[in-house]
Amino acid sequence: MKKSYEVIFENNKKWVESKLAENPDFFKILSASQTPEYLYIGCSDSRVSAEEMMGMKPGEVFVTRNVANVVNTLDMSSTAVIQYAVEHLKVKHIIVCGHYGCGGVKAAMTAEDFGLLNPWLRTIRDVYRLHQAELDAIEDENLRYERLVELNVQEQCINVIKMAVVQEQYLLDEYPIVHGWVFDLKTGKIIDLEIDFENILKDIQKIYNLTNSNWVMSRKNNKNFI
Ligand SMILES: [Zn+2]
Repeated sequence: MKKSYEVIFENNKKWVESKLAENPDFFKILSASQTPEYLYIGCSDSRVSAEEMMGMKPGEVFVTRNVANVVNTLDMSSTAVIQYAVEHLKVKHIIVCGHYGCGGVKAAMTAEDFGLLNPWLRTIRDVYRLHQAELDAIEDENLRYERLVELNVQEQCINVIKMAVVQEQYLLDEYPIVHGWVFDLKTGKIIDLEIDFENILKDIQKIYNLTNSNWVMSRKNNKNFI
């Protein structure tokens, strides 16, 4: 009897054939190098397929995914990905993309012991605490849940900006720019939360500045300030 996963190898064979039909050099080019313009930080949820929903091809997006798109300073995986993407790949845009209906965010709103997931979800519980006044004022539970998805994206964007490599590269190149998005599973649309990257930089630099420079003002007045 055929095993369920065998379909993957069949699909792969068809995919190789279709790519070679498009361009006989496809894998020669693919194996040579990568120069992605985007770093995508998203949720592991199987319904949120980064490249497919963005219409991107192999080689165009550097991707990391975890439960509820969290960027935690103690998580070596996401911080190593960001470090590499910014320092070596020189990505121009870092996208943190959450999604409505996120099970991780829902769990973080639930009074329950989730075992090993507790420390992970606590990052999201902390987002709730930071925005408690706004969230508690939303009576509709579903709207409150959706808002927490958005605020979680916003806070994870700030966690990206807290990293020295992001600050230093931005001062040098005016890149990377950090974006906060939410994917709406019900419509398939990506919503740009239009996070005010420059003002966030200004607001948090006093606390998180790791560069000894006045980020926003320095960048505008003099590009050779560091
Ligand atoms: Zn999710």
